[in-house]
Amino acid sequence: MTLAAPHKKAKALKSGSRRPAKELCSECGLCDTYYIHYVKEACAFIHQQVAELEAQAHGRSRDLDSSNELYFGVHQDMMAAKKKQPIEGAQWTGIVSTIACEMLTQGFVEGVVCVQNSQDDRFQPAPILARTCEEILAAKVNKPTLSPNLSVLEEIENSGMKRLLVIGVGCQIQALRAVEKQLGLEKLYILGTPCVDNVSRAGLQKFLETTSKSPETVVHYEFMQDFRVHFKHENGSIEKVPFFGLNTKELKDVFAPSCMSCFDYVNSLADLVVGYMGAPFGWQWIMVRNETGREMLDLVQDQLDTQPVMSSGDRKAAVQQSIPAYDKGVTLPMWAAKMMGLVIEKIGPKGLEYARFSIDSHFTRNYLYLKRNYPEKLEAHVPEYAKRIVNQYELPEK
Ligand SMILES: Cc1cc2nc3c(=O)[nH]c(=O)nc-3n(C[C@H](O)[C@H](O)[C@H](O)COP(=O)(O)OP(=O)(O)OC[C@H]3O[C@@H](n4cnc5c(N)ncnc54)[C@H](O)[C@@H]3O)c2cc1C
Repeated sequence: MTLAAPHKKAKALKSGSRRPAKELCSECGLCDTYYIHYVKEACAFIHQQVAELEAQAHGRSRDLDSSNELYFGVHQDMMAAKKKQPIEGAQWTGIVSTIACEMLTQGFVEGVVCVQNSQDDRFQPAPILARTCEEILAAKVNKPTLSPNLSVLEEIENSGMKRLLVIGVGCQIQALRAVEKQLGLEKLYILGTPCVDNVSRAGLQKFLETTSKSPETVVHYEFMQDFRVHFKHENGSIEKVPFFGLNTKELKDVFAPSCMSCFDYVNSLADLVVGYMGAPFGWQWIMVRNETGREMLDLVQDQLDTQPVMSSGDRKAAVQQSIPAYDKGVTLPMWAAKMMGLVIEKIGPKGLEYARFSIDSHFTRNYLYLKRNYPEKLEAHVPEYAKRIVNQYELPEK
C-alpha cells in the first residue's frame, strides 16, 4: 500500500483568510494549495534560508568575498542581451517569453507556470499552467502586482506532468525551491526575474494616480536605468518621471510590506535570471546561475544580440545621501528633479554599478523598515550577504 503524501491531507486557505505570514505575506500562492502544509519551512517571510537553498539549487551558496556574488548571487555567467526581433508588447524584448516558448515547443517541458492578466483588468494577475506557446505569449509583460503564481501547484501534480518550467519572482521561487522535492517532477526549470517594490492592486492604483498624468491609459511601466520611471501609454507614447520627483511622502505606504522586507531582489534561487538593471540602457541583463540555466539560454542564443556586462561610476555617495532623504519623505520640485536626473544620468552609476545602486538603496530602506516594524525578526530574516551590503552605510539610529 502506498501512503498519500502528507500535504494531500492539508487544506488550502480560503481566499481572504489571514495568511500564516500575516501582513508580510507576498501572496505567492503556496497557501492557496495543499502545499500550505510546508508553509512554515517554505515561506520566504517566515523562514529565511537563502544560503541553504542556494546550495540545494546550485551546488554551493554564494561566495561572500566575491563582490559580484555578494550582490548578484551564485552565477557562472552574466551578459547584456536583447532579442534581434523583439516581441511586440513584451516588458523588454521578450527574452523570457521566447525561452519559455522554445522550452515547450522543443519538448523540454510539458507545461509552463506563468501569469496572464484577468479579462477586465490588465494589471490583475491570473496565474496559469500554460500548455501552448499562445498561452505563454498571452502572459508577456509585467503584472506589477503581487501575484499568486504558485496557486497552480496542485494542478501540476494532478496533471501528471513530469517536466515543468516555472517563471517567477524571488519570493515565489524561494517557496517553490522549498517544496520542489514534493512535486514529483523529473525535471524542474526555473526562469526568474529580479523584483522589487511590488504592490497590491489598490496600491498600484495609488502609485499610478500619484505619479502619472494619465493613470488610466498606462500599459506598462519600469523604473529605468536613466533614473526615470517610464510609463508606456495605450497610444504608444512614453511619459518619463524622474525618480527624484516622486512623491515619496504619499508613496511610502504603497509598496507591499513583504516587498519592504525583501532581500532577494536578484532572484537568487532561479536557474536563469532575466532582468535589465545590470545592463546598459535598452538592453536586458542575463545571469546564468547553473547548468540548467545554461541549457535554457542555449535554446535562444541564436535569437539574441549580446555584449559583455560593463560597470562605471561610483554609487556610494548617492546611496548614502538618499537614505535620510527617503526617510524624511523629501520631494524635489519637478524642475529640480529633472535637473538632478540629467546630471546623475551623465555622471552617475551605469551597468553593474547601477544594479548595485538599486540594491543598496532598497536593502538599506528595507533593513530600516524591518528594524522599526519587526525588530524581533531582523537577525534571522536578513541574510548575511544583505547585512554586509547594509553595513557599508550609516543608517539613522532609530
Ligand atoms: C514586479 C516586477 C518588478 C521588477 N523589477 C525589476 C527591477 O527592479 N530590476 C530588473 O532588472 N528587473 C526587474 N523586473 C524584471 C523585468 O521588468 C522584466 O520582467 C524582465 O527583464 C523580463 O522582460 P521580458 O521582456 O523578457 O519579459 P516578457 O517576455 O514580457 O515576460 C514577462 C514574464 O514575467 C512574468 N510575470 C509578470 N508579472 C509577474 C509577477 N507579478 N510575478 C511573477 N511573474 C510575473 C510573466 O509570466 C511573463 O512570463 C521586475 C519584474 C517584475 C514582475
